[in-house]
Amino acid sequence: MKIAIYSNDGETSSRIASELSKEIEKAKDLEIDELNPEIVISVGGDGTLLSAFHHYDDLTDKIRFVGIHTGHLGFYTDWRDTEVTQLVESLKRDNGQSVSYPLLDIEVDYADGGLPDYMIALNEATFKKLFGTMVAKVYIKGELFENFRGDGLCISTPTGSTAYNKSVGGAIISPKFNSIQVAEMASINNRVFRTIGSPIIIPPTESITIVPEVSLHNVLTYDQLLIKDRPIKSIKFKISKRRIYFAKYRHTHFWQRVSNSFIGDTLNDD
Ligand code: NAP
Repeated sequence: MKIAIYSNDGETSSRIASELSKEIEKAKDLEIDELNPEIVISVGGDGTLLSAFHHYDDLTDKIRFVGIHTGHLGFYTDWRDTEVTQLVESLKRDNGQSVSYPLLDIEVDYADGGLPDYMIALNEATFKKLFGTMVAKVYIKGELFENFRGDGLCISTPTGSTAYNKSVGGAIISPKFNSIQVAEMASINNRVFRTIGSPIIIPPTESITIVPEVSLHNVLTYDQLLIKDRPIKSIKFKISKRRIYFAKYRHTHFWQRVSNSFIGDTLNDD
């Protein structure tokens, strides 16, 4: 089985990546292949897994991810940095087991008439303005839904719902729901601009389109990436037909992960 290791630059991550690489090279039937891997192991945090996902973006349908965390337990990282040997044993016994999660498709039309861009996000996309308030019409399934004025909008996947979306008051959504969520960032509500004021959840049969007032100060982010300094005419968001796959050698229940990450030890305090 062909394996790629994708590590962040941290001292611990680099050491773990090198340890892992040696163990894989020693194992029969496992080999390192950074170009055409079947399994990608990210070493770092959730942010590292996001980078690994975009690095192997065009291979998403063919690969499965595994995350080793070198800091705290993450949403995409199941293995501790002390478990390299156990992970290699699981890789040797691999029988293709996997779990998959929804991704977000983003289609951007530019005001300069250039060709549209198509991107994909694992966590979310946000659309906001660097100076002043972002103004946009928001359409659901092609029908005008609201006139938005405020800091911006965050459109997230279920696994991204614990990231930026949570910070702006969005709900945490189990990744068993094939859905996307739109959460507002500091909307202004008055007689001209009236927004729904609460997060909304969109099924796979529907799309969200943002048609902003064209401005060079608008910024589109998707995970750690961004588009700026190019005026955007409209952006369409929908659930992707593609999904991200993880090798499922062990299973941490989603809500257990949420509890571990956000509630922590206080559960045991009396
Ligand atoms: P970063 O700004 O260095 O770190 C963002 C933090 O979000 C890290 O602690 C990261 O965990 C955590 N994170 C990433 N994905 C997560 C998920 N699905 N659920 C819960 N926490 C998650 O940026 P980064 O590490 O490159 O990650 C990019 C992400 O940062 C974006 O996709 C966005 O979700 C998030 N972000 C959040 C805010 C906010 O909450 N106000 C603002 C900007 C960006 P690790 O420490 O394990 O890497």
